[in-house]
Amino acid sequence: MSADDSAILAIDQGTTSSRAILFSTDGQILGVSQQEFEQLFPADGWVEHRATDIWQSVLNVGREMVAQAKASGIHILSVGITNQRETSLVWDRQSGEVIYNAIVWQDRRTADHCNNLRQEGYLDGVKAASGLLLDPYFSATKVAWILDHVAGARQRAEKGELCFGTVDSYLIWQMTGGKRHVTDATNASRTSLYNIHKGCWDTELCALFNVPASMLPEVLDSAGHFGDCGANIFGQTLPICGVAGDQQAATIGQACLNKGAIKSTYGTGCFMLVNTGHDCLATKNNLLSTIAYQIDGQPTYGLEGSIFISGAAIQWLRDGMGLLSSAAESERLASSLAGNDGVYMVPALTGLGAPHWSPDARGAIYGLTRDTGPAHFARAALESVAYQTFDLIEAMRADGIEPNALRVDGGMVANGWLMQFMADIINLPVDRPVVTETTALGATILALLGCGEINKIDDITDIWKQDKQFVPNMATTDRAAILAGWQTAIERTLLD
Ligand code: ADP
Repeated sequence: MSADDSAILAIDQGTTSSRAILFSTDGQILGVSQQEFEQLFPADGWVEHRATDIWQSVLNVGREMVAQAKASGIHILSVGITNQRETSLVWDRQSGEVIYNAIVWQDRRTADHCNNLRQEGYLDGVKAASGLLLDPYFSATKVAWILDHVAGARQRAEKGELCFGTVDSYLIWQMTGGKRHVTDATNASRTSLYNIHKGCWDTELCALFNVPASMLPEVLDSAGHFGDCGANIFGQTLPICGVAGDQQAATIGQACLNKGAIKSTYGTGCFMLVNTGHDCLATKNNLLSTIAYQIDGQPTYGLEGSIFISGAAIQWLRDGMGLLSSAAESERLASSLAGNDGVYMVPALTGLGAPHWSPDARGAIYGLTRDTGPAHFARAALESVAYQTFDLIEAMRADGIEPNALRVDGGMVANGWLMQFMADIINLPVDRPVVTETTALGATILALLGCGEINKIDDITDIWKQDKQFVPNMATTDRAAILAGWQTAIERTLLD
């Protein structure tokens, strides 16, 4: 069988759906299967997934792709997994049954726990060891919540009867029939329990968050042999050879493998990650220090900034306000105006993320006049995505990063007007790749490396192909004037 008949099965277990994508060894998409699953909102600010929904959807899409590969005479070399990060599961070591639903990264139920720890002065210590902030976003307080709210759970955990895992870890446990309780360094680095400098679970963090170390998975490199997915799962035995959290996988899929290379993903929210090489930069600007990937025991670090609302502002204009018939219409409306006429939107619909981290901030629109119409709203929502990107890049600059371009992906990058405006505002070229499935591509690259098909991660840089480069084309004075309006809008919003 020639190399052309070989493929990687990439499993992309996301927040709203699970996907399986069959990638050829040169990064072409051969097939895609996707299944959405139910989001559970049991109380204000709570977000859960049923573990069985996650697993069943992965089984369904994986089986479909394996069957397609078989029918086409394609040999699957290995499985790569990428996943929604921070989402936490606790299950019984014997039966594999979870003791509670998966608590999703968006869940805010542990906000008070985090506030208390902050007030008790633990923020600096947590930041120094884990690279993260004290926020319900991360796994540690979610696990503690499960242990404290499910009858008998804490005692069982102390006795070593329970396992904790992020979604990758849970999937590998299921795929290997309970033989492997493992995770990779990128996923471990999002739990608040992992010391990203020492490369191990941190005893003090485990004590602080009250999570017994016996529950934690073994942490492996992002590429290697995680275990074998049994023949009963997808129809044939397959080695699992690459694992990374979704944003880290997208960083690899965007071939941001050199220090200073930045990618930004624009979906519901926006996640920007810059590769900082083998140095773990301590941010002074409320970004997160994280592990971008770990290969041969050597971590490559990243700095990350998350914006909670980007595409969701367009969704809100479409579904909440009824101002747009489709997300794509925002492009026509925005480009119908010569300028923003002083109208700015601060889309703090669920608070503000990096670099402001103001959970209580709320959205605002400034500069309304009798002439303001739907086009201004659409334009202001799109512009806000570029301004927030600018703020993140400025924060990264202040932390010592000197970017020379931004690689973009996610649903919003179809909007050419926004991409050009973004390039103008950040004053850097914006590069849009041909394959925008960068997350699954990243998992594929790790799996290729893990199964020995490639020798070095850099071997794949030619997998990344540019679709279009948007080149900055705005006069410095215009840029400064437009940005001054945004700064005023943000300052006013933070004052409220
Ligand atoms: P997620 O993975 O977070 O669900 P996607 O990457 O699928 O998100 O992107 C979907 C988001 O992109 C939606 O919020 C939608 O409003 C926005 N979007 C899609 N197409 C466009 C467009 N042409 N212009 C602006 N926003 C868009």
